Amino acid sequence: MNIFMLLEMAADAMPDRIAITSGDESLTYGDLLVAARGAAALAIEHGASRLAYLDVNGLAAPVALFGAALAGIPYVPINYRLTAPEIAALLERVTPALLVCDGQSVPNGIVAIAPAAFLARARAGGGEDLIAPDEDRGIAVELFTSGTTGVPKAAILRHDNLLAYILGTVEFMGADEGDAAIVTVPPYHIAGISAVLSSVYAGRRMVQLPNFDPAAWLDLVRRHGISNAFLVPTMLQRIVEHLDAGARVADLPALRALAYGGGKMPLPVIEKAMAQFPGVDFTNAYGLTETSSTICLLDPESHRAAMASDDPAVRRRLGSVGRPLPTIELVIRDEDGRELGPGEAGLVFVRGDQVAGEYHGLGSQTDRDGWFPTRDRGWVDDEGYLFLDGRADDVIVRGGENISPGEIEDVLSSHPAVSECAVVAVPDAEWGEGVGAAVVLAVGQAVEAGELQALVRGRLRSSRVPQAIRFVDALPYNETGKLLRRVIREEFAA
Ligand code: ATP
Repeated sequence: MNIFMLLEMAADAMPDRIAITSGDESLTYGDLLVAARGAAALAIEHGASRLAYLDVNGLAAPVALFGAALAGIPYVPINYRLTAPEIAALLERVTPALLVCDGQSVPNGIVAIAPAAFLARARAGGGEDLIAPDEDRGIAVELFTSGTTGVPKAAILRHDNLLAYILGTVEFMGADEGDAAIVTVPPYHIAGISAVLSSVYAGRRMVQLPNFDPAAWLDLVRRHGISNAFLVPTMLQRIVEHLDAGARVADLPALRALAYGGGKMPLPVIEKAMAQFPGVDFTNAYGLTETSSTICLLDPESHRAAMASDDPAVRRRLGSVGRPLPTIELVIRDEDGRELGPGEAGLVFVRGDQVAGEYHGLGSQTDRDGWFPTRDRGWVDDEGYLFLDGRADDVIVRGGENISPGEIEDVLSSHPAVSECAVVAVPDAEWGEGVGAAVVLAVGQAVEAGELQALVRGRLRSSRVPQAIRFVDALPYNETGKLLRRVIREEFAA
């Protein structure tokens, strides 16, 4: 099967329904199908082996996604926030391609077309006779990972991986044709792709918000009667702060479901958001590019149970990423590959049809039995709730002892003067690596480094006590809400 089939089915069933709105412009499902056919014809005309997209979210993005699928070539969305040399390096890896972009100088072998021209050309028709290749293992999308831990890797997602995700998650979470979703995640992120695919599968209306801003988000949610939204933690945090500062959550009667994920959600933010949006179903979604998006969910019921419970074991689940989807298997293993039991922290491995685990130029990273190493560290409780404990690449190795930043951050964050913090490895002459902490103080608060060190010393082993503490105005996050620890490490090293 081919993901193009999702669009064909939606356009067949409801050609006149609005599929997507961006600013003042909309496409019905019928329009989207015509445009995707036109885009496929255009790509084939240019002999492109990939259809790349380098722009903010716009109508052209889903047109390119489905157009590429019909043409039987990968869709390659690229992060427009990267620097010019970084973009040039990624573009070198995708030739020959047709590239939808505004004013970018492109390497040889790439034909560039502006988004408006691409959309107009695609909507003009063509490709009516094309039939989507029915190859499960065909590549649907090549998606560069966020590069949080190093150079972005080009993850390969095949049609069968994406369709397995859609069938597994959307069926599990339920969907309704009357729903409307707001898309705030950029097109080059897996959540941006999954938002489009799941909306088309469910026959939802999508409304794009290319440049996130809390006031604009609230306004669009109200005006378009949005029922479903996905936010990365920093976006939810900004909405919470905006409402805290006096803005009203007025008239959002349609808003039913708020999902979040992509990075660690600070507990105070989700607690406040649940109070600010009573009656809205909150879901924490944990996933990776390489797993075609969500693999674990903390569902609305677990959110409510955790908030209402006095039992610490239940209460703490608000900080977990929930349980694996029914279509996903998950195990925790130690460094030697031994499977660990509940409560034991190790590396998270997952298996399932949506798990692609494959990179351009590097091949498959899954083992013989199909297990993919997420490179996230974590543990599960007695009922299978997964608690993430940082990434394997962020572990501090102090004289052979592995120290996970998460446990130290939890202690530091419990101090009332600490608004946010990040623990990283710092160079240490004796141990190789030591513990450093970057701390953002809460407004109007002050604390000495010595007091924070004493707090950690009182709760954890002495090796966990930060030897260096820097007070900073803000922590560095990328645009999809991922904490950039390597930037903090570099600041300490300097
Ligand atoms: P790179 O592999 O280049 O460093 P990346 O792994 O950051 O990039 P993504 O695939 O976008 O790129 O991110 C996946 C990671 O994001 C997960 O491995 C996990 O660490 C984190 N993550 C995703 N969802 C959640 C969530 N709900 N809660 C906490 N962390 C999450």
